[in-house]
Amino acid sequence: MPRQGSGAQDSVETRAWVKNCFDTRSFEKYDYALMSGALPPSLDLARAARQTYGLQGRLPVKSLPRLTSALASDAGEVELTLEAGLDAARRVVITGRLDAELELQCQRCLEPVKLKVHAEPHLAWVKTDEQLAALPDGYEPLLSGDGQVALKELVTDELLLALPLVPKHEGDAACESFTETAVPAAEPEEAGKNPFAELAKLKRGP
Ligand SMILES: [Zn+2]
Repeated sequence: MPRQGSGAQDSVETRAWVKNCFDTRSFEKYDYALMSGALPPSLDLARAARQTYGLQGRLPVKSLPRLTSALASDAGEVELTLEAGLDAARRVVITGRLDAELELQCQRCLEPVKLKVHAEPHLAWVKTDEQLAALPDGYEPLLSGDGQVALKELVTDELLLALPLVPKHEGDAACESFTETAVPAAEPEEAGKNPFAELAKLKRGP
């Protein structure tokens, strides 16, 4: 049976906000309205050009199939905070942070290892080759013909890039503890389910 997260649901504790910035450079006057609801499937870059807005919420890891194909299990959630708006050079940008505890396969002992994965996307919408060439360091180009950015695809891409190349337990001792306890002693109340206990019964006869 595949392992699953602890009842993770799509878009729990989602918040969205809008900042109406009358003039972001001369004075900080925000209309900072928080709204609750489901995470939208996409971010609208044309809207971000008119109005800074943000999203905060959680996505179950199992809702990101391209990511889970690189993992040892689909357990857990991704915490995300993203903001879309204009930067000082009037580029449409998406910034924020993603945090998840993901289960990967340790490349030393081949047992699962839970690792914290963190990403801070810094993406700029690029529509022409000139804009791409002029993009300063620190920005990743965001190519979108229709101005819609699929949220789950963005989160998947950012986390795939943030995965460690060689996932490992911290220190050799952690891996050795796995090999030493690979056959755990059966709890008394679970003895009936333990295959070794069943085998012992067969050997003893009826
Ligand atoms: Zn290990």
